[in-house]
Amino acid sequence: MKNDYVPNSTADRFLRGETLSVDEYEEILNLMAAPEFAQEVTELAVKLRKKYFGKKVYVRGLIEFTNYCRNDCYYCGIRRGNRHAVRYRMNEEEILSCARQGYELGYRTFVLQGGEDPWFSTDKIASLVEKIKMTYPDCALTLSVGEHDKETYRLWKEAGADRYLLRHETAKEEHYRMLHPSSMSLAHRKNCLYWLKELGYQVGAGFMVGSPGQTRRNLAADLRFLKELEPEMIGIGPFIPHHDTCFARHEAGTVSQTLQLLSVLRVMFPQVLLPATTALGTLDPLGREKGLQVGANVVMPNLSPTDQRKKYDLYDNKICVGDDAAKCQDCLALRIKNAGYEMVSARGDHPGFA
Ligand code: SF4
Repeated sequence: MKNDYVPNSTADRFLRGETLSVDEYEEILNLMAAPEFAQEVTELAVKLRKKYFGKKVYVRGLIEFTNYCRNDCYYCGIRRGNRHAVRYRMNEEEILSCARQGYELGYRTFVLQGGEDPWFSTDKIASLVEKIKMTYPDCALTLSVGEHDKETYRLWKEAGADRYLLRHETAKEEHYRMLHPSSMSLAHRKNCLYWLKELGYQVGAGFMVGSPGQTRRNLAADLRFLKELEPEMIGIGPFIPHHDTCFARHEAGTVSQTLQLLSVLRVMFPQVLLPATTALGTLDPLGREKGLQVGANVVMPNLSPTDQRKKYDLYDNKICVGDDAAKCQDCLALRIKNAGYEMVSARGDHPGFA
């Protein structure tokens, strides 16, 4: 690990926003161990965030509508094989009621998030999208319901979906295999992301920081993959183990590395939408505020009913499962204000789409 920072051409090119090779991104991640360089990156990230977004923080109202999933990702608390997970599905009226409440609170983006639940067929999801978009034409609708075929994504886009979140989790095959069963494929996941881009969605990718088996080399490959994909949103948060998974005893990712990577991403993608995640707030009571202060510009409060929120149990000790939506809104607004930023009621599209 290098601790001395000597300005060099790779560092200069990175700070100028140039696309680097995997080797060079690895060099940048090594350089982040030097406080002087890390400081320079953070300062630039803050400057870029200010240039493109001022003090604005966009809010996404998260509706976790089903915790059934056909997949078995090894790290996930709601994976198919977890017999202890208490399953639920919201009905249409419950989902629409969450959107209504979110709209009244001033949210102008809804995120419909769930496991890959075959009960919610392509048509059912398309119908939900249509109903929400017809009722709230001034809002953006994001889907986060996993891997599907291109035609399905096309139908949902035609129904009115604006954005799609699908974290790639890792860009390296051997790392992907450590985290997922053989029934899943990194190539398919990447294809999904490219299809979504082709279809005109604003696309969100991302990864867990400190996931089992992750190396700096893997992270460098993630950065390079993101440069190739050019997503409009990037979600990263620390890995947090779930007690009912094979990684129950694996240590969690760190807040400090997540914050460093948020700054790195802001420098690489000055206009990207970058959430300060709930996972960050789970590991550190001020984690989301710290995220905003190093380059993040989005928060995602939960609109789901509190009794169901607890069951969307991706990892242990997840915060914000007890307060109703209005309380969450008040709490987050205060946190954002205390961090020196301003929660805004707006769709918050990527500037390239506005
Ligand atoms: S991470 Fe997503 S796709 Fe994988 S098991 Fe969990 S909910 Fe399903």
